[in-house]
Amino acid sequence: MRFLKQTLLFILASLTIANCNAEPKKSQTKSQPYLVVLSLDGFRWNYTDEANTPVLDSLRKAGVFAEMIPSFPSKTFPNHYTLATGLYPDHHGIVMNSFYAPGLKKFYSVSNRKSVRNGILYGGEPIWNTARKQGLRSATLFWVGSEANIQNMHANIWYRYNQKLPFTDRIDSVYTWLSLPENIRPHLIMWYYPEPDGTGHHYGPHSPEVKKMVEQLDTWLGEYFTAMRRLPIFNQINFIITSDHGMQSLSPERTVILDKYVDTADLKIVLGSNPVYNIKVKPGKLDIVYNALKKVAHIKVWKHDSLPAYLHYGHNPRTLDLTVVADPRWSIYWSGHVGHEKGTHGYDPITDRAMHAIFYAAGPAFKNDYQEHSFKNVDLYPLMAKILHIIPAPSDGKLNEVKGMLNPQH
Ligand code: AMP
Ligand code: ZN
Ligand code: ZN
Repeated sequence: MRFLKQTLLFILASLTIANCNAEPKKSQTKSQPYLVVLSLDGFRWNYTDEANTPVLDSLRKAGVFAEMIPSFPSKTFPNHYTLATGLYPDHHGIVMNSFYAPGLKKFYSVSNRKSVRNGILYGGEPIWNTARKQGLRSATLFWVGSEANIQNMHANIWYRYNQKLPFTDRIDSVYTWLSLPENIRPHLIMWYYPEPDGTGHHYGPHSPEVKKMVEQLDTWLGEYFTAMRRLPIFNQINFIITSDHGMQSLSPERTVILDKYVDTADLKIVLGSNPVYNIKVKPGKLDIVYNALKKVAHIKVWKHDSLPAYLHYGHNPRTLDLTVVADPRWSIYWSGHVGHEKGTHGYDPITDRAMHAIFYAAGPAFKNDYQEHSFKNVDLYPLMAKILHIIPAPSDGKLNEVKGMLNPQH
């Protein structure tokens, strides 16, 4: 094992952070289950069809595989926070990677770290809080929302985001936490890695570069499980490997330049990124802008409160006046800001299967060699609560949708 001094310092620093938090109301016991959830950003449900992934293939045999359907918009921040809370983005409030909260008069964006750490912008109850409130210690490594003080608490262990921390150092952190004395050992760990999303954007989902990255991730997952197997509690741990969304192919020939159709002087706020945006228009301009966008081919536009019910979106004031999304494989840009990426996500996840994400799970709570039908990512929260034997907060998720993957004895 690479117990780097750096990693130990990292752990000690986190425990210091943890000490600032309120102590759990009751203490955990050895017999309580363990759950370790990893999100690999942008890991499309069928990437393994085009790559050599022996570790993921054997995980599938040892446990459960399912195609997981993200929530709309199929972007990183809304979906990671949905995975943590079981709430649709409209209900937890992280409605896009960047948004404006009219009630609070605050902007949120991934690049504005202060906003990302501002707990008042996050609704619902993340599972790391649900666990803590019921006496289970929790740890997070870069999960969206984990840096924010939500409900006046964090996970017992949490960090400031560091995109560059290598995968193997992340494994070391997880290993070290699970080696802590039982009274301070987390029973829930949520950790994150930003690939293959970055490679998928840059080269496109069917590129040799994505294939190589997926194979690299599989090799690292092999190292992860080798480390986990050394833990005396290995047989008690439930593992989930999942993702926030998939990836779709783009082409410069399939591009809509939005300001060819609307006068940008009529727009007050535009937030989002290809292929999905929320727009606030200037007073008196709503119908002009809406009617103009309605006629544009290869995009959909909806007024606030009038999106199709299956998208569960557009009622939160943070979605502003209009929501615009491109049809699958199409891009929406603005003159002077035309992107060159070969892949993206954000499309309607129900009509575009390329948006679907992976779900692998194995451990004592799960059946072996079990293929679950596809399920919505809101259902993960009640599933995690069930595995941890804790009571979930109210959510949009339904345990019934996913409990078939659990061992009946659990
Ligand atoms: P996107 O593809 O635009 O939806 O977002 C993906 C990017 O989100 C990743 O490449 C990361 O840089 C970033 N990201 C993911 N999680 C976090 C986080 N907890 N804090 C800051 N940035 C994050
Ligand atoms: Zn993502
Ligand atoms: Zn992305």
